[in-house]
Amino acid sequence: MNIILLGAPGAGKGTQARILVEGRGMVQLSTGDMLRAARTSGTEMGQKVAAIMDAGQLVTDEIVIGLIAEQIDSDHPGHAGGFIFDGFPRTLAQADALGDLLARKGLALDAVVELRVDDEALVERVTGRYTCGQCGEVYHDRTKPTKVTGTCDVCGSHDLKRRADDNEDSLRQRLLEYYKKTAPLIGYYHAKGKLKVVDGLQPMEKVTAEVARAIG
Ligand code: AMP
Repeated sequence: MNIILLGAPGAGKGTQARILVEGRGMVQLSTGDMLRAARTSGTEMGQKVAAIMDAGQLVTDEIVIGLIAEQIDSDHPGHAGGFIFDGFPRTLAQADALGDLLARKGLALDAVVELRVDDEALVERVTGRYTCGQCGEVYHDRTKPTKVTGTCDVCGSHDLKRRADDNEDSLRQRLLEYYKKTAPLIGYYHAKGKLKVVDGLQPMEKVTAEVARAIG
């Protein structure tokens, strides 16, 4: 099963993707994570995209399609569980490219799950969030702080990080990009009969249960 998680920044795509990886052995392909890794390791591409990401704008289709193509084309060990596309596609050109990449591999896209959350909730979620750099667990200042300040509940690491673009200015720009360039994908996948909508404002467990029902 191959699925796309669609939704504005902070809608819960990463959190739901992690749950699907653990529960179903799926492989999460997050272009945001790949781009952040490229920045951290200081590659030429990573340096090129850094300012664009911090400003909350989209990097070029060519770069992200290349990243995804590499992953799909390589013989991924976790392949059997299928792919979760998280934060990709974000433009119609990316959506077309994904369709071609999957078809070339004889794979199908089974469902596109839109996590729908209103803007004010997104600001609150995104500006308060931080993540464990070791295991990826996601926390929030108000709704889900670590039990011991500065220590990850799951793995005990002290490497807790906030994203450079998780501030209100960048988020406003990311939302604008989402509505202008990514929201048209909702109609695109609806027309293909793939779209399922889940209310992302519900408690996390309910969202998880509805995502599970949506993808079967
Ligand atoms: P994310 O972690 O998905 O919120 O992505 C963080 C940032 O990486 C975005 O604000 C963009 O600058 C860039 N990015 C991630 N995925 C894409 C994509 N599919 N297309 C263009 N830019 C992307």
